[in-house]
Amino acid sequence: MTAIILDGKELSKISEESIKQRVVDLSEKGIKPTLATILVGNDPASETYVKMKRNTCARVGMESIAIELPETTTTDELLETIKKLNEDDSVHGILLQHPVPSQIDERLCFDAISINKDVDGVTCLGFGNMSMGINAYGSCTPAGIIRLIKHHNIEVQGLNAVVVGRSPILGKPMAMMLLNLNATVTICHSRTLELDNIIKNADLIVGAVGIPKFIKTYWIKKNAIVIDAGYHPEKCGDIDLDNIDRIASAYTPVPGGVGPMTINTLILHTVQSAEKGIVD
Ligand code: NAP
Repeated sequence: MTAIILDGKELSKISEESIKQRVVDLSEKGIKPTLATILVGNDPASETYVKMKRNTCARVGMESIAIELPETTTTDELLETIKKLNEDDSVHGILLQHPVPSQIDERLCFDAISINKDVDGVTCLGFGNMSMGINAYGSCTPAGIIRLIKHHNIEVQGLNAVVVGRSPILGKPMAMMLLNLNATVTICHSRTLELDNIIKNADLIVGAVGIPKFIKTYWIKKNAIVIDAGYHPEKCGDIDLDNIDRIASAYTPVPGGVGPMTINTLILHTVQSAEKGIVD
């Protein structure tokens, strides 16, 4: 059996075409979908991520407003910026680029984002709502993974899903989204014992660890679905994907799997917000 390649680059291109049309439809009603990006400090990786998000907005005809704050910004100053954007009716989505400098209370600032504009799915309220199956914009990376899985008609109900990583933006929401689709979910982290044995029983694995090629090919069960959320400068992810096409039934390539879906999901959520908060 040939493994299905869960090609995020291809799906995001298809999705961009439909988003472009939705932007045109909104423009005809006098609404210009707008994403506000907030970058605090001078982290080069963060600057690149924000630039990529703004470029994608431009490609589909959306507006983006770039707010750049100095490294010395305080929590109160950032809260004030978020408050203004919450009150600005021309802004449909707010992205606060993670991480912010250490003097800032990042959680407080994330949670200051209005739930209606939380298109990046970073607020506790959004996470809670999503977990309870109430309409909310889920965190973009796991939401993008779910879109990729659904696009390929992969049924996760009843599968043994193992998520390696429990970060607020990735591992935890990923686990809740899979649970909501009736998978049986195990969440693993740095204190998990016998990780290899847990993965050996997984029908679906999500690698969200942040360590290059951390999950070994020989831990993976034949015909498992393999999702690699990691991306490292050496162009590999968190899973060793060498020979994965001979083992997995489906897998996300790195690059070109999960990454493109993350940005695409952010702009999709912003358009949905402009369409008045209708979410999938
Ligand atoms: P993170 O906040 O650093 O979280 C990493 C998670 O991995 C933590 O929960 C940690 O456990 C766990 N972990 C660390 N060492 C482990 C070990 N030895 N065994 C098992 N679990 C271990 O990272 P993140 O933000 O979730 O990102 C994870 C990966 O996804 C990274 O490679 C990142 O580059 C990538 N990413 C990609 C996108 C995208 O758009 N494609 C977006 C975001 C992130 P503890 O909780 O116990 O510390």
